[in-house]
Amino acid sequence: MKEYNISIIKGDGIGPEIVDEAIKVLDAVSYECNFHLNYKEYLMGGIAYDVTGNPLPQETITGVINSDACLFGAIGGAKWDKLPRDLRPESGLLRFRKELAVFANLRPAVIYDELVNASTLKAEVIEGVDLMVVRELIGGIYFGEPRANDGQTAYNTMVYTKDEIVRIAKVAFDLAMKRSRKLCSVDKANVLEVSQLWRDTVEEIAVDYPEVELSHMYVDNAAMQLVRNPRQFDVILTGNIFGDILSDTASMVVGSIGLLPSASTGEKTAIYEPIHGSAPDIAGQGIANPIATMESAAMMLRYSLGESKAADLIELSIKKALQDGYRTKDLASYDAKHVVTTAEMGEIVANYIHKLK
Ligand code: NAD
Repeated sequence: MKEYNISIIKGDGIGPEIVDEAIKVLDAVSYECNFHLNYKEYLMGGIAYDVTGNPLPQETITGVINSDACLFGAIGGAKWDKLPRDLRPESGLLRFRKELAVFANLRPAVIYDELVNASTLKAEVIEGVDLMVVRELIGGIYFGEPRANDGQTAYNTMVYTKDEIVRIAKVAFDLAMKRSRKLCSVDKANVLEVSQLWRDTVEEIAVDYPEVELSHMYVDNAAMQLVRNPRQFDVILTGNIFGDILSDTASMVVGSIGLLPSASTGEKTAIYEPIHGSAPDIAGQGIANPIATMESAAMMLRYSLGESKAADLIELSIKKALQDGYRTKDLASYDAKHVVTTAEMGEIVANYIHKLK
């Protein structure tokens, strides 16, 4: 039987609740699909600070690098907001991504037919949306030097090297090949030199992917088009800051933050996590929606472990649970037949996995 080593970081707030339900679902699917997952838990975030005095212990970095993939909950909370910046959970998270060199952030936004009314956009605009934002995660203006603020003048630097653009572009083209072979690269090449290099480099890579239909769009237009007609997109490739903004816009197309997974992949390992935070306002009440974390677990099976059938089975089971009217509290006003707790949603999806196999 195939075995995989999975590092688990539950984190703070609702993190432990949602990760426990994703593990329930992973246990069900690994049983049905005949492979074994060895889990090892590591500390990060506020809880790691409380226990070790460091929001990102070295043991966590080493453990995650040596695992096949990492399933991550969420970190942070008001309790740690007054700490010096470098000891705060969020600083630990940024360092974590940089240390693991996870340069490609994949954020799918897929509409569940059962939840078309949960979005603030009209149903006819969002029906059938199934897109993937590929965002460069560890370069660009968030990391560029020099940077400064002397109280009178402040600046940051948007830098991309050709190599950085090549490696993220390849991820996006490879994904496009597995999807509908349409790729839209988003930049601001009409005013930024760095975007011109981005565009030229993407064009060069495109030569190796003749089956992929490549288009380019300026970021201001892309923001507008995502809301006007999101169905026109399949894979969107973009840099760090543009991707940050566009992926949040894309997430609102779907409706609830509790539904959106993500993968951050790199050369050493990959991290799979919901896009939401630790939701301290609802922690410990059993009302958090675990679906984004279950979807992240499905991405982990598909992209890191090559267990696509198991990933499909998780996604199908979530869809079935929604079709049959099971909703956590955040979605209770959208065609709910049964409002269930976080743990009940885990059991329901796990049961569908056993039934649908
Ligand atoms: P948040 O995403 O935690 O919560 C925003 C709102 O969405 C809240 O009302 C929350 O109750 C709701 N929500 C989030 N996830 C939900 C779920 N699964 N089910 C139902 N409702 C859900 O964002 P925030 O309130 O701005 O931040 C809270 C803490 O999380 C902060 O400390 C922040 O720094 C941290 N944070 C961590 C990450 C991460 O770990 N990757 C990401 C974003 C924010």
